[in-house]
Amino acid sequence: MRTPLMRIPYTEPFAHPPTIPPAARTLPGAVAALQAFFGSPPPAGLPASTVVLTGAGLSVASGLADYRGTKGTYRVNKTYRPIYYHEFLTSHEARKRYWARSYLGWSTLHRAQPNAGHYAVRDLGRLGLVSSVITQNVDSFHARAHPEIPTLELHGYLRSTVCTSCWEEFPRDTFQHELARLNPIWAAFLREAVASGALDTEDPGAKRARGIRMNPDGDVDVPDAPYSTFRYPACPKCLAKPPPLADGTRGVCEVDHQGAWSPTSNAGVLKPAVVMFGESISAKVKQGAEDAIDDAGRLLVLATSLATYSAWRLAKRAKDRGMPIAIVNIGGVRGEDVLFVDLDPRQPGGQGVRVGMSTENLLPVLVEELSRSGTRATHHAPTALPPGPSDGTLFKDMLS
Ligand SMILES: [Zn+2]
Repeated sequence: MRTPLMRIPYTEPFAHPPTIPPAARTLPGAVAALQAFFGSPPPAGLPASTVVLTGAGLSVASGLADYRGTKGTYRVNKTYRPIYYHEFLTSHEARKRYWARSYLGWSTLHRAQPNAGHYAVRDLGRLGLVSSVITQNVDSFHARAHPEIPTLELHGYLRSTVCTSCWEEFPRDTFQHELARLNPIWAAFLREAVASGALDTEDPGAKRARGIRMNPDGDVDVPDAPYSTFRYPACPKCLAKPPPLADGTRGVCEVDHQGAWSPTSNAGVLKPAVVMFGESISAKVKQGAEDAIDDAGRLLVLATSLATYSAWRLAKRAKDRGMPIAIVNIGGVRGEDVLFVDLDPRQPGGQGVRVGMSTENLLPVLVEELSRSGTRATHHAPTALPPGPSDGTLFKDMLS
């Protein structure tokens, strides 16, 4: 089967979200429904553990913008179009623009912290209710909030850069220092922007008012900025030893007198270690995500509209396996009628839950109630699990 590409998410609004069960409209009703979700015995043949699938909405309370508003439409920046992988690979100009914007966005992203939603996932893990996390977010907040729960980062992570020739990874922090050194005027602009509070995470409105727009992937838009003057470093490994190219020839990796990547090169280009639009998710990550679904008996979807195909197909896989699904997301979700088809409208939550609330408000209350009521996952003997790795070692190399 062909590996699915990362695609531009749906841009049309989704249908108005249902509430399942109807009592879950209020906070106590939603908490009760999710208690029933975690407390009900798993369907026959499925393990008692729950896998969590998260998206951009979970990081909104950390000051990072969501791609979508409550109706499922883009709200951050209607003209925002993320860079495509092929564009990044082939265009020096596109890379200058990408890294300039990323340079400005990094300080905000770097200072942002996991929020109550991430810590509630940690607590669900401590209660034995959550066995693994799949996230579409590239902010590394899950790994920071709960390093003990295996987390698979479906779309990669911004904390590293990766060379598109030798595939070596490097810390984004070091890269940021190099960008500052190569672009002193931009560094001064950034210092000024930080000092003026224009990049403060707390107030995206004020940020926009000052002419700076921040997108969820750490990209900052400064209208009319001279992007073409921006310079970025080359892969140190390819610089030291030019890599072999696919055609068998030796690649060329050259830098100018200060160490900026030179357009006379055909190798040594660093990119963020995220899956760009138009780029394939690696077979290893795709397999890891499918295994995480297959090793669990329930799916809890948090703060995502499942607009990207790579995420939606995991929810569909859970549905096809007969796993109860709970979705907590403000606004509509792609194909949710399919995920909740044939649900008994009178069931209290054990078969499925759909709540339109924010994770940072709902989840801490849920954790409190689950702790009070002593809800625990019923663990099956490991032999009862389907064949394949199930202890999280699969994700080891994807944790920070
Ligand atoms: Zn390299």
